[in-house]
Amino acid sequence: MQVALEHIETASRDEISALQLDRIKWTLQHAYDNVPHYKQKFDDQGVHPADLKTLADMAKFPFTTKIDLRDNYPFGLFAVPRTQVARLHASSGTTGKPIVVGYTAKDIDNWANLMARSIRAAGGRAGDTCHIAYGYGLFTGGLGAHYGAERAGCMVVPMSGGQTEKQVQLIRDFRPEIIMVTPSYSLVIAEEFERQGIKPDDISLKIGIFGAEPWGHNMRCEIERKLGIDAIDIYGLTEVMGPGVACECIESKDGPVIWEDHFYPEIINPDTGEVVADGEYGELVFTSLSKEATPVIRYRTRDLTRLLEPTARSFRRLDRITGRSDDMLIVRGVNVFPSQIEEQILRDKRLGGTYQILLNRDGHLDNVEVRCEIQREFSGHFSPADTEAISKELQHHIKTLVGISTRITIMEYDSIPRTLTGKARRVIDTRPKQSSAY
Ligand code: ADP
Repeated sequence: MQVALEHIETASRDEISALQLDRIKWTLQHAYDNVPHYKQKFDDQGVHPADLKTLADMAKFPFTTKIDLRDNYPFGLFAVPRTQVARLHASSGTTGKPIVVGYTAKDIDNWANLMARSIRAAGGRAGDTCHIAYGYGLFTGGLGAHYGAERAGCMVVPMSGGQTEKQVQLIRDFRPEIIMVTPSYSLVIAEEFERQGIKPDDISLKIGIFGAEPWGHNMRCEIERKLGIDAIDIYGLTEVMGPGVACECIESKDGPVIWEDHFYPEIINPDTGEVVADGEYGELVFTSLSKEATPVIRYRTRDLTRLLEPTARSFRRLDRITGRSDDMLIVRGVNVFPSQIEEQILRDKRLGGTYQILLNRDGHLDNVEVRCEIQREFSGHFSPADTEAISKELQHHIKTLVGISTRITIMEYDSIPRTLTGKARRVIDTRPKQSSAY
């Protein structure tokens, strides 16, 4: 069923740029007037909001990094009085203090609208039932999806993460068309369906909206096959809003469309900070265009990707996130992203999407072990010689295509612990710490 798009989704580039320019001017002034940290940074760099005449002038303004957010914990970057903040969220903060962001009632309203737009782009419609298995709480996933699904006119099942058997029971009983969950946890749910002997055709789900962590083409194929759905990629981050900064369209499935009327994207060379042209790879940077409580100016996401030209909508798209500059592993001097290893594992249809990469150091040398599992349907069917052959093949692919030597351990199905809430922990690095570049 076709759904009417908002005018701006199909507007001309001129119209989009004019709106962005207006909104950036407002954002720069708002941040400068109300957040001492931004005023100080602008003054130090000798720039003033009035210096922005064109979008290209953004390059004159200073970046904001995760360090700025940490140093101003908890409320130092808020641009409105506390009495106007309606809600707080915080990022998972795997290291050190969490990062806190605030939302005014208007910010929450905009977020709900953008999530609703994302759900419609993914093929969801008013009247659908939407099962939400993102974690609820300080993490933006659960509540972000929830408000959006309500705004889109769905009946919402606020299940949150964990309790896999109950997830499956409720999906069987309530027969939702849509599921919103991390891609890694969707596979755990799919495995539970398999365990109960339920075939993909008998599962009510039609659409899955997956994000919060990187996932590749092969993972998409596996999820689609196991759940019998269209798997749609949604992107977002707490610092910039939460989920729904960009979302794929079901008709093209060619990378998340950035909701450019609310977020201004740039790609920079992560080493020099220079803006690169569309189509070139680098680090993704966002400036919020409508946020009242915690506006962000040129926020360095650390996500590595590139901007792609518009297709299904007038806005530009994100290519697949190849990694985060901070989850890049350096193994014996070779730069490796976990996603590159995942790609090689999932090329082999006998192996499943649950895996772990273990790093340790033996003397001065890094050792890498990749643990992966046989798919459920093949579990127990392979001889030691078969698994030896599978691991040799994978080792060879990783060596030739990723460039590192690994020890491969092939395990029976369900040997690796599953992540039931939040993001999968796929890399276990026990090497002595090097000082960080940030
Ligand atoms: P944290 O920074 O603690 O992980 P967030 O939940 O804000 O907390 O995570 C945002 C990050 O998650 C993004 O910067 C990106 O690295 C990753 N992410 C979110 N959605 C996607 C996606 N669709 N594809 C790849 N990575 C994603």
